[in-house]
Amino acid sequence: MNYHQILENIYMDIRPYAQVGKQADYIPALASVDPDQFGICINTLQGDEYALGQADTRFSIQSISKVFSLAYCMSILGDNIWLRMDKEPSGTAFNSLIQLELEKGYPRNPFINAGAIVMSDILLSHLSHPHEDYIAFIREISHNDTINYNDEVARSEESQGYLNAAIANLLKYYHNIDNDIADVLHFYFLTCSVEMSCKELSQAFLAFANHRQSFDYHGVSLTSSQVKRINAIMQTCGFYDEAGEFSYLVGLPGKSGVGGGIAAIYPSRYSVAVWSPRLNEKGNSVMGMKALELLTTETEESIF
Ligand code: GLU
Repeated sequence: MNYHQILENIYMDIRPYAQVGKQADYIPALASVDPDQFGICINTLQGDEYALGQADTRFSIQSISKVFSLAYCMSILGDNIWLRMDKEPSGTAFNSLIQLELEKGYPRNPFINAGAIVMSDILLSHLSHPHEDYIAFIREISHNDTINYNDEVARSEESQGYLNAAIANLLKYYHNIDNDIADVLHFYFLTCSVEMSCKELSQAFLAFANHRQSFDYHGVSLTSSQVKRINAIMQTCGFYDEAGEFSYLVGLPGKSGVGGGIAAIYPSRYSVAVWSPRLNEKGNSVMGMKALELLTTETEESIF
């Protein structure tokens, strides 16, 4: 497959969407990001890399970190993680409180904020050095020692994090948080603040595309069946209340974040990361989604 040519074609075809949408501004530090940026990178299981645009520029991965958190929690708890949260699509916004109240503090899935806040609590309870271990896992799975949190972004989100604080309080009320709420939220915001480029993210997600290989990074060890199940949850829950639309248009398991990044995989073939800060009203990158739709259309490669 001539991915180079395909990426060039995609780059041309997404131009009409360059001014559509706007970057997330409810996190003050993200409001100042230049919205007119675009990068994409594909990594194949054969070891080839194809990149275009600002594929080396780091951005805030935000909710894409929830995939790393799920991998970590599953390696610790196995299926017992489902005692703390469900694995059903939410159909509501990522920071919605409504379902959480109706379901008495049992989050709908790990990829909405409520689920990820519970995962932060699990990691705080089980890891002796959660902050260090979490970033060490991401560095190892990306084969890159320089990846880090952005404290300024984490602090900026924390300063305005009233809705996530409400979610954490509701979870605590229903006994689904063991640690101190402030510590859990602080760790949650840190995990969201991790900065990676498209090349680094695509490299990290290759481990999920390659589920037949052993998955063992910084002691985060998963069976191939567990990796496949994480991919299944990406497919059904990875795009907020637009998971159906992403499945319909793109047809790959993936996860988006309000920093404008999307990471996706074609199992046993490739991983891809795309980034462009302008978001649609559901919180997904406009050019990122369009680029991936064109990728699976042009290559005729999707899981369906
Ligand atoms: N840190 C963001 C929040 O909690 C993550 C949202 C996202 O990327 O979906 O609102």
